[in-house]
Amino acid sequence: MGTMDQNKGVLIAYGHNLAAGAEAMIYAENNNLWDKVDIGGVCCTAHDLNRIGLGNGELKVPKGIGTKPKVAGAMGWWRKMIRSGVMDCVMVDEQCVFCDVLGDAQKRKIPVIATTDKIMLGLPDRTNDSIDAIVDDLVNFKMPGVAVLDPTKAGEIGIRVAIAVKPKRAEAKAQSLITEAQFQEGIKKCTTCNECAFVCPPHIRISKLIGDAIKGDLLSFSNSYEVCVGCGRGEQVCPQGINILDLFEYANRQYVKNQKFKMRSGRGPARDTEIRAVGMPIVMGSIPGVIALVGCSNYPNGTKECYDIAKEFVDRGYIVVTSGCMAMDMSLYTDVEGKTIWEQYPGGFDGRNICNTGSCVSNANIGDAAIKVATIFAHRNHRGNFDDIADYILNKVGACGVAWGAYSQKAASIATGCNRLGIPVVVQPHSVMYRRSFIGRTDKPEDWMVIDARDGKMQQIEPAPEAMLYIAETKEEAMLEMAKLCFRPSDNSIGRGIKLTHYCDISMKYFGKLPDDWHVFVRDVKDLPLAYKENMMKTLEEKFGWKIDWKAKKILSGPLRPADVSFDPTNLPRKIRTKK
Ligand code: SF4
Ligand code: SF4
Repeated sequence: MGTMDQNKGVLIAYGHNLAAGAEAMIYAENNNLWDKVDIGGVCCTAHDLNRIGLGNGELKVPKGIGTKPKVAGAMGWWRKMIRSGVMDCVMVDEQCVFCDVLGDAQKRKIPVIATTDKIMLGLPDRTNDSIDAIVDDLVNFKMPGVAVLDPTKAGEIGIRVAIAVKPKRAEAKAQSLITEAQFQEGIKKCTTCNECAFVCPPHIRISKLIGDAIKGDLLSFSNSYEVCVGCGRGEQVCPQGINILDLFEYANRQYVKNQKFKMRSGRGPARDTEIRAVGMPIVMGSIPGVIALVGCSNYPNGTKECYDIAKEFVDRGYIVVTSGCMAMDMSLYTDVEGKTIWEQYPGGFDGRNICNTGSCVSNANIGDAAIKVATIFAHRNHRGNFDDIADYILNKVGACGVAWGAYSQKAASIATGCNRLGIPVVVQPHSVMYRRSFIGRTDKPEDWMVIDARDGKMQQIEPAPEAMLYIAETKEEAMLEMAKLCFRPSDNSIGRGIKLTHYCDISMKYFGKLPDDWHVFVRDVKDLPLAYKENMMKTLEEKFGWKIDWKAKKILSGPLRPADVSFDPTNLPRKIRTKK
């Protein structure tokens, strides 16, 4: 919440539909109220508020207004943010809004305005009442919240309430933050029954944190703060009624209040000119892949994982695209020079770039980039031709999605939406609850046959990509799988060598050994990564029985198939160019 100016009234717009938040910004602008109010977004509304007003102002939206709101934070930080006491008024819209927003806000005397009929939180619909009457009711705490389904009206009410309620909330705010005595009283109640640890998604041993706090050491509470996903499940089951998130808040009060970060604004789709420039290197493999990182802060082992994953791949020359809460969360971290990932790398759709498409509603732009490679670069017809485009992507476009931290069925379904387009996806361990996984059978060679579109002959290929929906246990396993899932049958030798280099390097870096199946992806000596070439050739001969001509440095026999730069893999018989 450190991005918010806490000397002003703080209005938070939370959700996925920016209409009311945007109207609030316009109201603040037209009435010169920015010195009295600060507007922050949580979840996707945060991205979208920053993207409005980029035009020339001829419409209703004042020019440059998009630079004025702040990104308060990702949805996974919601319960931590609301307990910090910083916000003065909350407007919720739709999707990804926690069901207990009203209760949490009411305890802290934060008026709530529901702005769409998708999520009304049981609040009375006051859309047709006068603005003055609604503001009076909220500012004087006559009711905890209202539903106002007219965004223009909701925006004005949000601004006026945030400004007027701030001084009135001061006492409630002070009371909502626990004191040292209350913290001590809370931790003393713990019986170390560990009921909370059983339900805690990232398996935090809360009793251990409490034990350390009893000895006067709050560091364990601080170190686990980012691992805690703010779900509140532990305190729901605690037989002693300990408010565990309040303990976290106490131990990290200054951190969350002062947490500041910089994020590059969402940019929307990849441009056609960018696709033309990268189409060939992606299909040939010399750009090793497109990595799409999406997620909602339900990380298995802390928020920093998303920064680590992004940095690993952008540093290796992949095109990294991201969106939504994951884009916000990776902004929290910096390198040794204090630069965020956005300051370390450019933001284009290109190798060694990191591209923020915008809110997770903008995930469509990520799939769209893959479609554009098929339509713009490969001239596939884009109308009524889904299977052809998906077939092209599956066989030729080295891309892998990652849904690391998906909170909901909706977020998990984004992954399977990518699958339909022929893009494999790696998901985090919690995704097992959605009961979906598409894993290839590498023990069944008959599963790995494709048509060569040049002449219609069937060709056995290496398992590339080996899985379509892979559940990884750790970020290290996820990264190794991501590198592997970027192999495509169409890779030329330079591209295959680059992809195999990254696959082997990541395995060496995190697991201290080469992956067990590296040899499966070798078709020719030119596919071998230079750094490992000699040793790999020896292994191919000695362990796998391949025949090597050492003088000519050639593989004589062993691979599943030869490397063939004009190989045209497809699963669609209608793509065969020469009929028998
Ligand atoms: S709120 Fe945090 S500590 Fe409590 S159960 Fe959820 S993740 Fe675990
Ligand atoms: S459930 Fe409550 S009492 Fe039991 S270990 Fe967790 S915090 Fe302590």
